[in-house]
Amino acid sequence: MTRAILIDKTDDGQSASLTDVTLPALEDGQVAVEVAYSTLNYKDALALTGAAPVVRSFPMVPGIDLSGIVRESRAPSLQPGDRVVLNGWGVGEKHWGGLGERAHLNADWLVKLPDGISLKQAMAIGTAGYTAMLCVMALEAHGLTPASGEVVVTGASGGVGSVAVALLAARGYRVAAVTGRLAEAGYLTGLGATSVLDRAELTGTPRALGKERWAGAVDVAGGVVLANVLSMMAYRGVVAACGLAGGRDLPTTVTPFILRGVTLAGVDSVMCPRPDRLTAWQRLANELDMSKLEAMVTEVPLAKVPAVAPRFLDGQVRGRIVVPVNPALG
Ligand code: NDP
Repeated sequence: MTRAILIDKTDDGQSASLTDVTLPALEDGQVAVEVAYSTLNYKDALALTGAAPVVRSFPMVPGIDLSGIVRESRAPSLQPGDRVVLNGWGVGEKHWGGLGERAHLNADWLVKLPDGISLKQAMAIGTAGYTAMLCVMALEAHGLTPASGEVVVTGASGGVGSVAVALLAARGYRVAAVTGRLAEAGYLTGLGATSVLDRAELTGTPRALGKERWAGAVDVAGGVVLANVLSMMAYRGVVAACGLAGGRDLPTTVTPFILRGVTLAGVDSVMCPRPDRLTAWQRLANELDMSKLEAMVTEVPLAKVPAVAPRFLDGQVRGRIVVPVNPALG
């Protein structure tokens, strides 16, 4: 038995609470991980609230992320005592996830934590931060450098946005942070943003082409915000699109692509191949200013997770939420 958040669904609706659960038996190729920290991402909020059909089977232990220590291994690649991080692979959606004291997971899904990242920092980064790094990698794979020009980050006060701002600033990019919460301007400049824009500037009806403003973009919003960003990209600009916080539609035209050579690069963290994950985590260890994480983090105890989740859907969460499950593990 282990303590975990459990989402269940009955005829009366969906519920989520902290309870005792029996984990499925450990199989060949799997490891048992004692969870030190988990976290809450936008997707966890969708799962916990039932606002979108993220959970594929019930009952489900949610949590698309965890960091912890391997306690038992039935896979040659990992040994008891290894410090590991997990992001995605359908964990917390199809497979029981990280919002509990222990998890049984396929060893192939786990990344050994690079030196220089603590178990807590790994979850301050979490899927949001690892996705931010995948976005930076996508921009740079398309030739973006700090000399190319300014990079815009939408949803900048959220999890992906906050880490993207910090990462890009640390690499020497000028970063325009777009937010619906101008009260967070000081927070965003503290992370390294060189300018802060009101989201309202990007929510009007998109034109086919606007003024050329940005060489690169990290977009978590989708919808009309992404359409406006596309119309304002500089010639041969590149946009890494990873989110739908503002909507899953995309009311754009082909004009930015065929007249300005703009690239729209999709970013997915869940099924991202292992080599890219290893690169992303090593680059996070090398490049992210870990002192910036402190300003981003709010801690929420495991028992409070179901109550806090709805705040994501109202766009109320700043930065990253970390769930200390067993912080004594380090
Ligand atoms: P957060 O809730 O932490 O951040 C989202 C931010 O988007 C908010 O903080 C807010 O920032 C902004 N926002 C909220 N509502 C709107 C709106 N209507 N229009 C435009 N912007 C809005 O979520 P995460 O950072 O964890 O995730 C962001 C998005 O990225 C989500 O859609 C998530 O599903 C997606 N995602 C995708 C991944 C992938 O693999 N492709 C992986 C991780 C996340 P502000 O107030 O500053 O404007």
